[in-house]
Amino acid sequence: MNIAALTIQQIREGLAQKRFSAVELTQEALAFAKAENAKTNAYLTFSDDRALASAAIVDAKLAAGEDPGALAGVPVGVKDVIVTKGVRTTCGSKILETYVPPYNATAVERLETAGGVIIGKTNCDEFAMGSSNENSAFGPVRNPVALDRVPGGSSGGSAAVVAQGTAVVSLGSDTGGSIRQPASFCGCVGVTPTYGRVSRYGLVAFASSLDHIGPFARNVSDAATLLRAIAGRDTRDATSAAHPVQDYAASMQQPLKGLKVGIPKEYFNGLASDTGDNIHNGIETLRKQGVEVIDISMPHTDYAIEAYYIICTAEVSANLSRFDGVRYTRRSERSDSLINMYRQSRGEGFGAEAKRRIMLGAYVLSHGYYDAYYLKAQRVRSLITRDFAQAFEKVDAIIAPVSPFPAFKLGEKVDDPLQMYLSDIYTITGSLSGVPCMSVPCGATKDGLPVGMQILTKHFAEDTMFRIAHQYELNRI
Ligand code: GLN
Repeated sequence: MNIAALTIQQIREGLAQKRFSAVELTQEALAFAKAENAKTNAYLTFSDDRALASAAIVDAKLAAGEDPGALAGVPVGVKDVIVTKGVRTTCGSKILETYVPPYNATAVERLETAGGVIIGKTNCDEFAMGSSNENSAFGPVRNPVALDRVPGGSSGGSAAVVAQGTAVVSLGSDTGGSIRQPASFCGCVGVTPTYGRVSRYGLVAFASSLDHIGPFARNVSDAATLLRAIAGRDTRDATSAAHPVQDYAASMQQPLKGLKVGIPKEYFNGLASDTGDNIHNGIETLRKQGVEVIDISMPHTDYAIEAYYIICTAEVSANLSRFDGVRYTRRSERSDSLINMYRQSRGEGFGAEAKRRIMLGAYVLSHGYYDAYYLKAQRVRSLITRDFAQAFEKVDAIIAPVSPFPAFKLGEKVDDPLQMYLSDIYTITGSLSGVPCMSVPCGATKDGLPVGMQILTKHFAEDTMFRIAHQYELNRI
């Protein structure tokens, strides 16, 4: 079996026809993942025992003639900001280097109930802050497509494991682009569902009003299968939505004729030329399928990065206050008083980017600056959300680039945080407004670097988003 190219469908058939057992597949996936990891550093922890136990349950269900679930035997990678009971969860941070959670995230629980096999936890930027995976305390991930380049971030490990084929699907988290951007850099599908579509219970909070859990896969159908397994209301997350989970597999089969997509002009400034060419080809492919393409404007796009870096840092400064050297975390040994223990533990435990954002966040929330920064940023967020609502009165979906440029070289942007922040320009608007959005591979640059096309639809219209992505994937030239 060619494990690196397996799909969920092929695994289902292979198990049904007894060509392999779930335990055999898991053993092979673990061995392959460990060998590949020497090249990419995409996994931080392997969960052999748990994976083999999950696989044994799938085999037992199959032997008993029971339904083993939609993800039966599927090797899955889980970003290390999502908690796994009994399996170390570091958030890419030294401060949680030895943290072993006592409970599972809802998404983890659901994917295992559906028969998914978690083979390991994937590397990421510290607390999901970053765009290149270079902010991980455990070293960067290398892009499997070009090992001298970044895989994108912050879910770089989750994108890399799917791209290199050591996992069939994976879970990432997206706050400002952290699923879509690495998916585009590594050439896989990455989905940020509607805010509230997937429970955040057990996702270590970065910026709670922006955080989403979502899938990576090598094709649209597999991403949809994983999302369907983990989506839905969860009483443990008050922001999770009761909205029914659609049958994505059925909607994906519908042709696109008659749909309208909008192309926002603000998303095409400052785009690297061969990235732009690929997106335009993608739009042409949709047009050929009978999609009506309409030019639209999203006038507040220019303010998105500023608003995002105020809102997210404000939330970071609050959320990361729980890591204090007392609960969960590593405690500094060099502490002579309680206050110094807090200071030392946080000072030694957090990396530079986390510290930068905690300080920025404390500043924008401080008395005297709150109105000028935080409140204003929230107003901008409302205007951006209104841009989307107005666009969706005219069109069924919006098509845009994911990133202004393809995967860059390791080290190229580390000394310039502003440049790094600017790379999120096309993904942050979707995050701020909470609409579903995804990256689907749409070609490569002259140097062979993958380019992703972004598809955005209105809240809870994942069915239309998957339909466009799947039909595009089938007809892509
Ligand atoms: N790159 C963005 C940031 O650094 C987005 C991160 C994310 O989506 N988790 O905040």
